[in-house]
Amino acid sequence: MNYKELANLIYPEAKEITYYEEKYPTRNLKEGAIVTRFAPSPTGFVHIGGLYQSLIARKITKQTQGVFFLRIEDTDQKREVENGITGIVKALKDFNIIPDEGMISEKEEKGNYGPYQQSLRKEIYQSYAKYLIEQGKAYPCFCAPEEIEEIRKKQETAKIRPGYYGVWAKCRNHTVEEMAQKIKNGESYIIRFKSLGREDKKIKHHDVIKGNVDFPENDQDIVIIKADGLPTYHFAHAVDDHLMGTTHVIRGDEWLSSVALHLQLFHELGWKAPKYAHIAPIMKNDNGNKRKLSKRKDAEAAVSYYEEEGIPEEAVKEYLLNIANSAFENWKRANPDKTIEEFELQINKMSVSGALFDMVKLLDVGKTVISRMSAQKVYEEAIKWARNHDKELEKMLEDKEYALKIFNIERGNKKPRKDISKWSEVKENIEYMYDKNFNEKKMEYPYQVINNKEEIKEILTKYLEKYYETTDDKQTWFDKIKELAEEMGYAKEVKEFKANPEKYKAHVGDVSTVLRVALTGRTNTPDMYEIMQILGKERIAKRFEKAISF
Ligand code: GLU
Repeated sequence: MNYKELANLIYPEAKEITYYEEKYPTRNLKEGAIVTRFAPSPTGFVHIGGLYQSLIARKITKQTQGVFFLRIEDTDQKREVENGITGIVKALKDFNIIPDEGMISEKEEKGNYGPYQQSLRKEIYQSYAKYLIEQGKAYPCFCAPEEIEEIRKKQETAKIRPGYYGVWAKCRNHTVEEMAQKIKNGESYIIRFKSLGREDKKIKHHDVIKGNVDFPENDQDIVIIKADGLPTYHFAHAVDDHLMGTTHVIRGDEWLSSVALHLQLFHELGWKAPKYAHIAPIMKNDNGNKRKLSKRKDAEAAVSYYEEEGIPEEAVKEYLLNIANSAFENWKRANPDKTIEEFELQINKMSVSGALFDMVKLLDVGKTVISRMSAQKVYEEAIKWARNHDKELEKMLEDKEYALKIFNIERGNKKPRKDISKWSEVKENIEYMYDKNFNEKKMEYPYQVINNKEEIKEILTKYLEKYYETTDDKQTWFDKIKELAEEMGYAKEVKEFKANPEKYKAHVGDVSTVLRVALTGRTNTPDMYEIMQILGKERIAKRFEKAISF
């Protein structure tokens, strides 16, 4: 009996690998085009780190006219959840990171290099496992889980490196006849890779992000095909990335230490290995301890969180690009009108260690992003969010024309107002412009300097009777508030007041504050002229009455 016969005994049906090599030809792309993928397990949860990876992958493939695809790694069937693929497809779609190939729904895919779901590629992996067995580079291992456990215990007691390697890899020493006999006897087995590596030798590797690193060679006879006939991650990724023409594996740096094994697998399979780029995770400061954002502890670890909170997709992406390349922030400042697609991301300049996630900063980016949007866009995004998350806001926005007027206040000018950082803030932000909300709200009227009831009444009444004119332009409108101030013994200019405070009761700004607070219940609002224009004289009068009778 020889290896070839053994391989045939194990996988009698498996196709020759040439079949697959021909079925998936080298991609015809321009030189330098990067092919990469996002390869999550369908656990139904997309971590913000996964989005970060996909954003980077999508960007560098676009920059080089390459291909970005979505592969589902579902070989660990214990971890799967129902509709797990749908959740991933949706998360990418929500952020407008659309793969060129791969899964597009729970069951459908597009592209010529599929199936893009590993559990549907069983036969392919078996062909390649067979190919390795034929060459004596892989073998069936009959050790039961209890035996493996026993080996581990012995190693632990003897304080030596754990694993199935060298003298511990006892199944690698069976003769081919013994192996065949055991199989014929119906013993159960898995397939292991036969490593010729030596732990005391080093390999040098250049990682696209981490730079030069060395590792000891891999000497473990790792499992390549499990008892359920499905491959392990290590083997599956090698086969898939080879057949799918991946040029760059961009993945989390928890995989960095597996590189020695992965390069060895590529080598033994006779293939050119892809480049590897290991991304540092996004970290969180937890009472002075830096740790990875955790699915269990941190709401913001889930991509769904951003949609639920209504943080604009673009803000999340801009923020993640800030983390990815420190040059991005300056670029964006210099090019506020350019989209992130126009930024040239340099993956080799990415930070080697994990950046801290900063929610304050993200919300600040959100403010800038929203301030740059047209009123129409703000309206569309706010109502889209409201439909899914806030029925009351949805109702408020029913009158589109009115809402657009509100969103238009101080928009489109050089320094647009930055007051909304996420869609879940819109309601609270515009509420006072709606009479129903305004009237139902428990009023506080936080008047500042001018606090006297009679004085306030006089300011409001005089203003409306003598000064306010709907048709005034902004300058006239403001001049009139100055006149009112003067008439009542307040300084017309803040400067004047500062020079001679004893001459005045207070200044025009304080008078404005009275108007503003009576009108909106707030001390801080966007442009009051525009607010008055939108409300109109009748509603202003009602609000002043309410304030007076308060
Ligand atoms: N399924 C692996 C993971 O989710 C993929 C790693 C890779 O991109 O190769 O970590």
